[in-house]
Amino acid sequence: MLFELRGVKKRYAGKVALDLPVLDLPEGRSVVFYGPNGSGKTTLLNLLAGTDAPSEGEVLFAGGPQDVTLVEQNPYLFQTSVLGNVLQGLAYRGARAEEARRIAEPLLKRLGLWDLRDRRCAGLSDGERRRVALGRGLVLGVKALLLDEPMANLDRAYAAAVEAMIVEEAAKPGRAVLMTTHDPGQAFRMGAEVVYLSEGRLSPVPLWNVFHCELTGTLEKAVKKALLSQGAAFFVSTDTLGPAAVSIDPREVILSFKPIDSSALNCLKGRVVATAALGLDVDILIEAGCQLHAFITLQSLERMGLKPGDEVFATFKASAVKVITRLPRGEASS
Ligand code: ADP
Ligand code: MG
Repeated sequence: MLFELRGVKKRYAGKVALDLPVLDLPEGRSVVFYGPNGSGKTTLLNLLAGTDAPSEGEVLFAGGPQDVTLVEQNPYLFQTSVLGNVLQGLAYRGARAEEARRIAEPLLKRLGLWDLRDRRCAGLSDGERRRVALGRGLVLGVKALLLDEPMANLDRAYAAAVEAMIVEEAAKPGRAVLMTTHDPGQAFRMGAEVVYLSEGRLSPVPLWNVFHCELTGTLEKAVKKALLSQGAAFFVSTDTLGPAAVSIDPREVILSFKPIDSSALNCLKGRVVATAALGLDVDILIEAGCQLHAFITLQSLERMGLKPGDEVFATFKASAVKVITRLPRGEASS
């Protein structure tokens, strides 16, 4: 095992933020920790990285401090250049200057940082800082690379490149990428195991709003129509046609009592079936020709006074529907 957690609890001011009786994370296997805000993802990564200690229990790691690296969501950068930051970790690990530069150059190029290599980090944008921190982590090739929401606040132009680099890193033998995300589609694309956290505990993984459908339309049009076997239909921005599995991030679904006039192409009429607390969010399950989950804040729930039986409209953009995978013919009916 890479990590073994036994009887781990983490409390902040007496309140339990994380409660993991048993968690085993094998070597060389990547994992995506998925869960709403406040579910304990960052707390868990800090315990794995050893940057924080549990209040109770133990975290065993099959390696030394050199074998694990945490890329934080709001990274601290050294007061030096972009290149200096990326090389520093390698220098600590004893790499010679020439060798370190040879390893860092292609990585910085892919991250769009090569032209910025001599810039001081103090003047960088948030997106650039995040890319520097990711480069600093990726360059090390450690056994356990911990990434806290690596795709959040990333410049759109680099999201695909960063995701590809993470996927490649995760696929290397003996390496494990342990990352957190809000995006279930990303977990699919990573091909990684998904561990779902809810209120500091492990839960069975709900893959929210995954639908098998037939994507219809014409290739020239950017928006296709997804026809679900359940009878519902909605619009999807994709260049794919045919049978597919799609998912809708529950955070992208807006609920209202009246249809809202917006640029979003999808507005489904439905009824609230159930509400369930998820940390700071609430999961609202709606029957709208298909069972749709929407995550809203506790504050919104209180403001709207939503309860089971209420008629609601669920609005989401065609671009909020992600094609997870294309399916062979004949599999779109499940
Ligand atoms: P996530 O990363 O999933 O959003 P966190 O691990 O940041 O969740 O937080 C889990 C819980 O612990 C939350 O309720 C949060 O408010 C609390 N928490 C996290 N860090 C601290 C801290 N330094 N002091 C007090 N409470 C904290
Ligand atoms: Mg967090």
